[in-house]
Amino acid sequence: MLVKIWKDLLRKSSKAKAPAMIYKDLTFIQRVLRDITDEDVDAIIVDSKGVYHQVEKFINKYLLSMKSKVRQYSEDTPIFEHYGIELEIERGINNKIYLKSGGSINVDQTEALVSIDVNTGKYVGKKTLEETILKTNLEAVKEISYQLRLRNCGGIIIIDFIDMDKEEHRDTVYQALLEVLKKDRAKTNVLPISGLGLVEMTRKRTRETLTRILCNTCPYCEGTGRVKSPITVCYDLIRELIKVVKKAKSQKIYVYAHPEVSAQLCGKELDIIETLEEQYSKNFVIRAENSYHIEQYEIYAHEF
Ligand SMILES: [Zn+2]
Repeated sequence: MLVKIWKDLLRKSSKAKAPAMIYKDLTFIQRVLRDITDEDVDAIIVDSKGVYHQVEKFINKYLLSMKSKVRQYSEDTPIFEHYGIELEIERGINNKIYLKSGGSINVDQTEALVSIDVNTGKYVGKKTLEETILKTNLEAVKEISYQLRLRNCGGIIIIDFIDMDKEEHRDTVYQALLEVLKKDRAKTNVLPISGLGLVEMTRKRTRETLTRILCNTCPYCEGTGRVKSPITVCYDLIRELIKVVKKAKSQKIYVYAHPEVSAQLCGKELDIIETLEEQYSKNFVIRAENSYHIEQYEIYAHEF
């Protein structure tokens, strides 16, 4: 393909008179065709007429072997839905992925490394347990290699397989992992299963990860994945409230909080609220604010 492009370029340059454009960078569609098309691809399905013609043109010129594989899609259901791509994207950004056998894998992508935890499904009895574990680990191997490519994970990757007692089983899983990773376009380096049953590996990545492309950091928890529980916020609020009532001259004090927090204040923690009211001769007006962040509250000595 490159040779063809080069010859084309030479031919054009010999005919053209400066200033003239003799080469333009490939379009997105053309780059996709160039970069991900190989003999493993069964079909190229396009849902837009215009793009279909672009694809045809490019393939006729540079990728003749793919010619019979291009098809136009004209069903009513959106193409991503029809082929289950939407679902795969969801799976590619979720932390937990279920395996057919009932087991699951948990993928945790952090700045430092990617950790993958393999879990069994239901307990199936001691006799078949070892076989079930091996089966689940082998199923996980396939899903992991797929997820690594789908998510475009890079750097250090630690896989925690379900513990296997038999040396033979550990080796089967390790060999299976090496085998599936051969298909990976990115360079990988895998160390043998360690004494704790962990596999350390690296994967070279050039582009952004799928989550980086598709997601933003959660503005609600700011990426920590956690927010204070209503009860913790409640106690924060009460400590702040005590500071306010000690200074406030007005008799009424207004408290605005997230509905879950105000529910605690008027329920479980009503004792504390009433005691404070009595102690400082105040009257608290507690209001639920639907639009508040769970950790947000405001205390006013006057209505606002
Ligand atoms: Zn969050």
